[in-house]
Amino acid sequence: MQKNKSRKVDLKDLTQDQLVRFVESLGQPAFRGRQILAWIYRPGISEFSQMTDLAKEFRAVLSQAATMSRFDDYLVESSMDGTIKFGFRLKDGLVIESVLIPEEERNTLCVSSQVGCAMGCSFCLTGKMGFHRNLRTAEIVNQVCAAQEWSFSHERGPLTNLVFMGMGEPLANLESVLDAISILTEQRGLDFSNRRITVSTCGLVPQMQILGEQTGVNLAISLHAVDDEVRSSLMPINRRYPLQQLIEASRTYPQKRRKRVMFEYTLLEGVNDADTDAEKLADLLHNVPCKINLLSVNPTGDARFHSPKEERILEFQKILRDRGFTVFIRQSRGEDIAAACGQLAGKGWPVNQD
Ligand code: SF4
Repeated sequence: MQKNKSRKVDLKDLTQDQLVRFVESLGQPAFRGRQILAWIYRPGISEFSQMTDLAKEFRAVLSQAATMSRFDDYLVESSMDGTIKFGFRLKDGLVIESVLIPEEERNTLCVSSQVGCAMGCSFCLTGKMGFHRNLRTAEIVNQVCAAQEWSFSHERGPLTNLVFMGMGEPLANLESVLDAISILTEQRGLDFSNRRITVSTCGLVPQMQILGEQTGVNLAISLHAVDDEVRSSLMPINRRYPLQQLIEASRTYPQKRRKRVMFEYTLLEGVNDADTDAEKLADLLHNVPCKINLLSVNPTGDARFHSPKEERILEFQKILRDRGFTVFIRQSRGEDIAAACGQLAGKGWPVNQD
């Protein structure tokens, strides 16, 4: 159970089971925990005094022992294409970002799981920040709560999908991410279906299995190369979990029937965008139930990486389609406000490194 500086328990850190144990430690029956969970995530609830079906004395005990954190201090930036970037200042002064991507029939929130990232992928600005710290469960959940409130108050409707593709490697902060997903999918919590949640990983193989078994959420794998030499040069994690191991783990990822793992493949001109790369990719993913997202690299100020021309991307897609794969070309969103993939680095807010 995580405690904040004032030694009070932040109830936003707690899953339903943890909340039940917490109220039992205060001498209350288990159902009070479930009752409180339903209150915490109701819009507009920020004080224990608003929980009107709890006895006054118990509310007083709760306010001595617990708190309910929320993000009040944040910046919002709007992109020309409608993408919204939130910059949330954390209690210790560090900054994380989330990105709301409105589309015709969905509102997807891209959520952060760490401040910075230790994985060091060469085309990613978050990786260049280095690793500062893991986010607490509450800090993950509060991104969703704040974006949801903002979206409603700006008449954008509810969030429909969540993707863990913001700052950080979610599976390197597995415990908090699992607890956050538990709260996000709990009916008394934020009530998202696990079919609407996707966790993206650069390839932490053992943690992938745990994620699938415990949550059943969708998995996205950042692949970006078809041989170990190129992938290790782009993504150092490949030295620990090389391609064959990663692909095998994706084949056995536990998920619902008819669900498929998504492979993200960022096309880098002259690095991984040749016809032979597309053929090798098709060989590699042969018999893996999957979909492929092709992305072009977003500007990160790194002169080594350029996006291929549109014809090259279309040709790459065609080769894969001809081999029977479902392949999408994902349009970059929010580039003008540094909200696109690989661009999240807390820009606009100074990052306190004390
Ligand atoms: Fe970390 Fe993801 Fe960036 Fe790689 S791409 S450095 S895993 S945030």
